[in-house]
Amino acid sequence: MKVVVVGTGYVGLVTGACLSDFGLNVTCVDIDAEKIELLKRGEIPIYEPGLKEIVEKNQKAGRLFFEVKGEKAISEADVVFLAVGTPPKDDGSAEMKYVFSAVETFSKCHKSYQVLVTKSTVPVGTGKKIEDYLLQKHSKETFAVASNPEFLREGCAVADFMNPDRIVIGCDDPKGLKVLLDLYEPMRKANAPILVTDRTSAELIKYASNAFLSVKISFINEMARLAENCGADISKIAKGMGMDKRIGHAFLLPGPGYGGSCFPKDTKAILSTAKEYGCRLKIIESAVIANEEQVDFSVEKILKNTEGKNEEATIALLGLAFKGGTDDVRESPSLKIAQKLLDKGVKIKAYDPEASANAVKEIETLQICNSAKECAEGSDVLVIATEWNEFKTLDLVEIKNVMKTPTIVDLRNLLDPNHTIELGFKYDCIGRRMQF
Ligand code: NAD
Repeated sequence: MKVVVVGTGYVGLVTGACLSDFGLNVTCVDIDAEKIELLKRGEIPIYEPGLKEIVEKNQKAGRLFFEVKGEKAISEADVVFLAVGTPPKDDGSAEMKYVFSAVETFSKCHKSYQVLVTKSTVPVGTGKKIEDYLLQKHSKETFAVASNPEFLREGCAVADFMNPDRIVIGCDDPKGLKVLLDLYEPMRKANAPILVTDRTSAELIKYASNAFLSVKISFINEMARLAENCGADISKIAKGMGMDKRIGHAFLLPGPGYGGSCFPKDTKAILSTAKEYGCRLKIIESAVIANEEQVDFSVEKILKNTEGKNEEATIALLGLAFKGGTDDVRESPSLKIAQKLLDKGVKIKAYDPEASANAVKEIETLQICNSAKECAEGSDVLVIATEWNEFKTLDLVEIKNVMKTPTIVDLRNLLDPNHTIELGFKYDCIGRRMQF
C-alpha cells in the first residue's frame, strides 16, 4: 500500500516513519524545503526520542521518502494523510488554511480511488467540508474522506504511535474504511485497539479527549492552590484521589499550567465549535481561565521568594520546553512566566537541555546558559519550570555553592522537599505550604 503524509512536523514525521516501519511505502511531504532537505540527509529537524533511528532504518530500506511537492507520490497513493498544523486564530477557532491548501493539492493530483484522512486535529464538520469541496471536481465513487485523529504525546511520540491506547477511525464510506483497516492491520495484530465510528464522532473524540485532560490538569492545579492555603499536601491528595480507579493517577500532577501545541488551542477551538452549534461548555471555559491564572500564580510565587528583591532579583529558569522530553516551546508556561518576569524588569538566566534554540525565537532577549550550574550562578532564585529528568538529579550542593541566595521554587514538584531543605535551601513548590 502506498501512503503519503502531507505535513512533516511532529505528527506527520512520526506517522510517516512509523507506518513505513510497518512495511508501507511512505512519502512525507512538506512545503518547508529546508526541513525536507535535512530529512533527505538523514537529519531530524525536531527532538523526539527514537525517531532518528526509525527514520534512518526505513530510509535505508527504501520505504520512506521525503519530498517538497510530492505531486507524483500523491497521485499514486492509496491513502493520503493530512498532518498539517491547525493553529489557533485570534478568536480561538482553528486556522484551517493549511488543511485546505493541502486539500487543493490533493484535488489537483487525484486520479483514481483514494482515501484522504485528516490526522490533524480538525473541528467537527471538517470532513464534510473537505468532501463537499472535492465533490465539485471529482465523482463520489473516486474518494473517501475519513477522520483518524492522532493521540501521540511529544517526548514519547514514537512509542505512543506504536502502542496506542486506541486507533480511532471515523469513516462513513465502507470502501474507504476497509482500506484504512487494512492499513492498520499490522497494528491491530500487535494488539492496538481499533475504534470505528462515524466521521463526525471521530472528529469530536479528539477534542473531547484533550479538553477532558485539560480539565483534569486545571482541576489539580486549583486543588493545589487550596491545599497550600489550608496546609494540606497536594501530592498526598493526588495519590489518594488517583487510587480510586474511577479517577486514576494520570494527569494529577500540579504545575505551572498546561501548554504545548494541543491543549491550549484545542480547548479554545472546542469552545468555538460549541458556540457555532449553540452550546456553552462551562467546565472547559473554566479550565481555560484556571490555566491562565496558574501562570500568574507561578509568577507571584517566584517573586514572593525573592526576599523582597522583587524586580531586582536574578532568576535562574530551568526548563523552557512546555514539558520534559521535547524541544517544543509552543504555549510553554515557562516562556509565559519568563515573559511576565522580563516585563517587570526581572533579570532571567535560562537553561533547557533541548529547547533553547526554539525559546530564543520566541523571546529574543532571553539569556541562555549551557548548563543548570551556569544558570544558577549568581542567581537569587532557581525556578524549575519543566520536568526534565536531569533536573530531578541536580547536584544541589554544587548549585547551592554558586547561587547568591539558596532558594528554589519547584513548579514541577520534582525535588524531595525534606532533602532540599536539609541541604540549606529555602524551598517552595506547588500545593504544599513550606514551614521554615
Ligand atoms: P507542526 O507545526 O509540527 O507540523 C506541521 C507541518 O505542516 C509543518 O512542517 C508545515 O511546514 C507543514 N505544512 C503546512 N502546510 C502544508 C501544506 N500545504 N503542504 C505540506 N506541508 C504543509 O504541527 P504538529 O505538531 O505536527 O501538528 C499537526 C496537527 O496534528 C495539528 O492539527 C495538531 O493539533 C495535531 N496533533 C499534534 C500533536 C502534537 O503533539 N504535536 C498530537 C496530536 C495531534
